[in-house]
Amino acid sequence: MAIVNPCPCGSNKEYALCCKPFHQGAPAENALLLMRSRYSAYVLNLPDYIVKTTHPANPQYSDHLFSWKRSISKFSKKFSFHSLEILDFKEKNALATVTFTVHMSQGGRDATFTEKSYFEKMGSLWLYRSGQLEEGYAPNFVTAGLLRLLPLAYYGDSVLRKKAEPLTEITKELKDLVEEMIETMEACDGMGLAAPQVHHSIRLFIICAPIEIAPDQIELGEIKVFINPKILSSSEETWETPEGCLSIPSLRCNVKRPKEITVEYLSLDGSLRKERFTGWEARAILHEYDHIEGILFIDRIDPQEQTKFQPFLQNLEKRIHDGRAL
Ligand code: ZN
Repeated sequence: MAIVNPCPCGSNKEYALCCKPFHQGAPAENALLLMRSRYSAYVLNLPDYIVKTTHPANPQYSDHLFSWKRSISKFSKKFSFHSLEILDFKEKNALATVTFTVHMSQGGRDATFTEKSYFEKMGSLWLYRSGQLEEGYAPNFVTAGLLRLLPLAYYGDSVLRKKAEPLTEITKELKDLVEEMIETMEACDGMGLAAPQVHHSIRLFIICAPIEIAPDQIELGEIKVFINPKILSSSEETWETPEGCLSIPSLRCNVKRPKEITVEYLSLDGSLRKERFTGWEARAILHEYDHIEGILFIDRIDPQEQTKFQPFLQNLEKRIHDGRAL
């Protein structure tokens, strides 16, 4: 029997028997089905569905629903969607990745891209958390090994307010945790990540050493691991610039920090190091160090600004707590 109204996701099924039920409110049973239904929602210009299935921690998430939906709709209209190709799908507990290629064009010009998307299940709903563009077109791209992503602790979670415990030894488990933290940080496009942010109340953090290539332009460099760090000294001289935090998505505000610090810490190979850090690198370390002390960057902004951000924070806490995007 011929398919009368094929689903745009390319499943070779009737739309009514494929993505339509999801678009009408049925929850997708897994991240792959959610991915397909989000693709077909883009094709069919259904911005409500895209918004409803976006994780509150997604960088694109906005409380300004009207303009957000308008920009999704613009994207739908601007491109011609040709096909969706799924390259890889992995699921572990409440986390999943889907790597896919979207074949599309704009005004006759090819605009094909490949993306690795991260999904998180909150409550009973799968939500799109973030996506990373993979370079170029990779038709046979399949990642090997296990999915190594950790669920983040968001604003309002008590683990973020605890003073973390020192580590007594560097075990295989700790090394595995560091590997998982690195993948999580990269998936979320973070500059640093502290263990309490992934629900481990221990004195450990990682940074992706920022390099200032020009004023206000930073490139992420080498990954550094800090175990049981101590800030031995900080300079009198301070500087102020906007900071963000993976645990408080989409908030950025000015934080004053020392320009230079000296830190003593254990590296992952167990050696004790004493190093001086300046500028952005010092800032990233101090931000993460605060996390193991139970301090958040919003505690360091002036009280007037804090009052201004209060409604945003309450809203965020509610959104995260309810486990849904709207
Ligand atoms: Zn942070």
